[in-house]
Amino acid sequence: MPTQGLIKTFMDCIFCKIVGGELPSHKVYEDDEFLAFLDIGPVRAGHTLVIPREHHETFLALPSPNAGKLWQVAQKVAKAVVKATNAQGCNLSVNNGRAGGQVVFHVHVHIIPRVESDGLTLWPQGKYETGEAEAVAEKIKQAF
Ligand code: 5GP
Ligand code: ZN
Repeated sequence: MPTQGLIKTFMDCIFCKIVGGELPSHKVYEDDEFLAFLDIGPVRAGHTLVIPREHHETFLALPSPNAGKLWQVAQKVAKAVVKATNAQGCNLSVNNGRAGGQVVFHVHVHIIPRVESDGLTLWPQGKYETGEAEAVAEKIKQAF
């Protein structure tokens, strides 16, 4: 039954277990709806994850008001992470879906503190063929 599947996903979710205190974490922020804790495999020291307490698998599955609040909390936490780590910048990112690199299916925002000398590179950039940008922009506009 689909309902059993959903409940099982929830029970098996490591981030739900962190929310419930069944798994330990280094918490850096919490309120009634959100929690932020250190990523267990940091890209750089201070790499933090912000999650809603409520289980939603992906960012796209989040109800719109929750999505807005998640980014507000992520901004607040990012300011603290940058200040505490003396970072010069940061990356905020959400991996969405398996193809998007998501491994833990409880929505989370990564906050990665950055300094100019950290040697990390961003994604490789491509180039549009003639007419391709217009076509894809039009498709996206039609998809709302
Ligand atoms: P994703 O690829 O799903 O966006 O990233 C999941 C992140 O969760 C990874 O960066 C990984 O290191 C982190 N992670 C996985 N398991 C745990 C855990 O048990 N505790 C903490 N604190 N982070 C975890
Ligand atoms: Zn969960």
